[in-house]
Amino acid sequence: MSEKLYAGIIIDQAHPALDKIYHYIIPKNLMGEIRLGMRVLVPFGTGNKTIEGYVMSLDKETQVPYSRLKVIKKLMDTFPLILPGLIPLIWWMKKEYHCFTIEAIRCFLPPGLRSNIGSKVEKIVFLNVEKDINKKIAAVEARSRYMAEILRILDQEDGIPLAELADMAGGAPLSSFKNLEKRGWILLSEQKVYRNPWEQPISLVESNIELTSEQKMAIHTIGQGISRSQGNFLLHGVTGSGKTEVYMHLVGKTLRKQKRAIILVPEISLTPQTVEHFKRRFGEEVAILHSRLSLGERFDEWRRIYNSEANIVVGARSAIFAPIKNLGLVIIDEAHEDSYKSESSPRYNTIDLAVQRCKEQKAVLVLGSATPSLNDFYLSEQRQYTRISMNYRIDKKPLPKVEVVDMRLEIKKGNRSIFSKRLYDGLREVLFNRDQAIILLNRRGYAQFVSCRSCGYVVKCNNCDISLTYHSKNRILKCHYCGNTKPYPRVCPECESLYIKNFGIGTQRVEQEINKLIPSARIVRMDMDTTSTKGSHQKILAAFRRKEYDILLGTQMVAKGLDFPDVTLVGVIAADTSLNLPDYRSSEKTFQLITQVAGRAGRGQKEGRVIVQTYQPEHYAIQYASGHDYKGFYDEEIQIREQFMYPPFCHIIRILITGENERAIIDTAIGIEKWLRHNSNIDAIIKAGLIELGTYPAPLERIKNKYRWHVLIRIRNEGIFRERYHEAVDQCLKEFQNISHTIMVDFYPNSLL
Ligand code: ADP
Ligand code: ZN
Ligand code: ZN
Repeated sequence: MSEKLYAGIIIDQAHPALDKIYHYIIPKNLMGEIRLGMRVLVPFGTGNKTIEGYVMSLDKETQVPYSRLKVIKKLMDTFPLILPGLIPLIWWMKKEYHCFTIEAIRCFLPPGLRSNIGSKVEKIVFLNVEKDINKKIAAVEARSRYMAEILRILDQEDGIPLAELADMAGGAPLSSFKNLEKRGWILLSEQKVYRNPWEQPISLVESNIELTSEQKMAIHTIGQGISRSQGNFLLHGVTGSGKTEVYMHLVGKTLRKQKRAIILVPEISLTPQTVEHFKRRFGEEVAILHSRLSLGERFDEWRRIYNSEANIVVGARSAIFAPIKNLGLVIIDEAHEDSYKSESSPRYNTIDLAVQRCKEQKAVLVLGSATPSLNDFYLSEQRQYTRISMNYRIDKKPLPKVEVVDMRLEIKKGNRSIFSKRLYDGLREVLFNRDQAIILLNRRGYAQFVSCRSCGYVVKCNNCDISLTYHSKNRILKCHYCGNTKPYPRVCPECESLYIKNFGIGTQRVEQEINKLIPSARIVRMDMDTTSTKGSHQKILAAFRRKEYDILLGTQMVAKGLDFPDVTLVGVIAADTSLNLPDYRSSEKTFQLITQVAGRAGRGQKEGRVIVQTYQPEHYAIQYASGHDYKGFYDEEIQIREQFMYPPFCHIIRILITGENERAIIDTAIGIEKWLRHNSNIDAIIKAGLIELGTYPAPLERIKNKYRWHVLIRIRNEGIFRERYHEAVDQCLKEFQNISHTIMVDFYPNSLL
């Protein structure tokens, strides 16, 4: 008896009209071979153009009349690119994040699939221009922005794999490269690439560490979850309590159960130490996945995972999509970090996705942090996560003493320097003792702007509603959003006053000031400017570890996960700037930042000291952070959230409208608001769920010449309201589909900027 079988295909095109399952006939010769998750070629549309698609279902019946059905042409691969077990997760993402199915599918595909990565030979592009690069850029700029961009990137960093460079240049076509090669300005060479992303030799170390009782407790409790194949845990452990060691034991236990593990870290380049620990303990069993690897490296690591040759995946957020069969454990380290939220479609939140994947695959989830997000801690109070606390550092080493310095008093005392007397003395002492210091300049939500002291004029970008930032290296003003530059004005363009100058401080200024105050200090800077090239983070950190420098100076980057035994002093400059952000999470973010950076001090034998400089010493976020009092902060902040109905006591949906015509985008925004209001008058659930609905200019009002307004919807957080509102918003946006400007919806926004 021959059984008819149909394949339900999602075709590889992101378009609202095409986002549905198309049924195809499976030809006889493919009958035994075709499986869920496979990539196929099918004829599509009236012209029967051949395009790629993915098998999402295998059905015995179809509603489509037989005469209209077409036949699958061929299979693209011999194995399913998407593990059949992960297909339910694709449907879940579509429902939750309202993305196209194909967008969710693409998350799961091997890296470099579209660039035909596969063989170990890669084309590498080198710059072949000795001088006058800018002239050459200008010469091709008008003809092709791709060609200009390729030269510009190569001028910064030479020798980049072609596929990666094409991506970096915004999708440059091969012809751009060929053209540049013809002119003799670039060289394309075929090279065998070394695709092991781990360059250091591995020498496996056995763990002979005697665990602390808190570590044993955590391993025992979570271990029980692993034995039962279920459980969500929040591991709240102070900085230096030894969470990584706990993770490694849990991974060991998972492997002994013949299961496999995923460990997520926020931005892998910032947490090389975690990766290192895993590589050293588990060697070849560890695969690394993150965007800083070349496509080839990523592709090879992906295949090692797929073929079950690597049992442990360490990676950035997209590693949650890794093709792991038999998943037993997912660990999310520093789970409070914002980088776990994707800011392009699908706008997923890695934690929610991990919860879902673990539920479907019967795996255990562990969220680790010294400063859990308010939301996660709240969920642990609600018993949705089992909370485990580790309150002591290894060997009961004390947490560093935090001293808060009121900078208003410093000015009164006549000290106009960036450094308080206390921080200055502290730095001198560190140098005297041959220890090391970390200085954090809090620049979150903070711009170093140029303004006129006579009339108050601020130099802003012509394209964006943002003040330009001063770069002392070439005395130029630069926009951080669009890259536009202006020369430093000699006189105020408004009133011609000479008293126009830069305010605020950048890391360069701080560096100069230390040089002036303590000329013998050896300083290394870690910020956007010094870490733009591949591997530069690691280099800076390694040099600091070798004690080639006394002071590590930087922005947020220095706050994370670093473990240097000789750091005895941490200084925080301008601790309060992030309090002034127009964001309901500004206190939370400030508390996290100070607590995290304070955790970098006193991790070795010597005691640590933290000096926090601020203009708002009485603010509760700063007070609790200096007391290492997470619970105190949580209790106060959660009350405020409840009182004003902010997350986790509400759910926010953000609809962002951007376009060049301000009047038009405001009209659209208001139109959307009206539509929703009208609906809330006729639909009882919509009405009951609403807390607040409003149209506002976004805090960043204009970026790259585009105005930005948003409609913010705050609703009650129960599932029934979320569901109805998500439907209503979808419906509403269908009405506005033909509007010419961009409408972007985030159903789970992290940032409202
Ligand atoms: P956390 O991630 O909680 O901030 P880490 O995992 O970085 O802490 O651990 C801090 C340091 O303590 C690391 O150098 C680690 O190797 C070490 N360590 C961890 N557990 C133990 C232990 N039981 N005994 C001694 N040292 C330990
Ligand atoms: Zn002026
Ligand atoms: Zn700009």
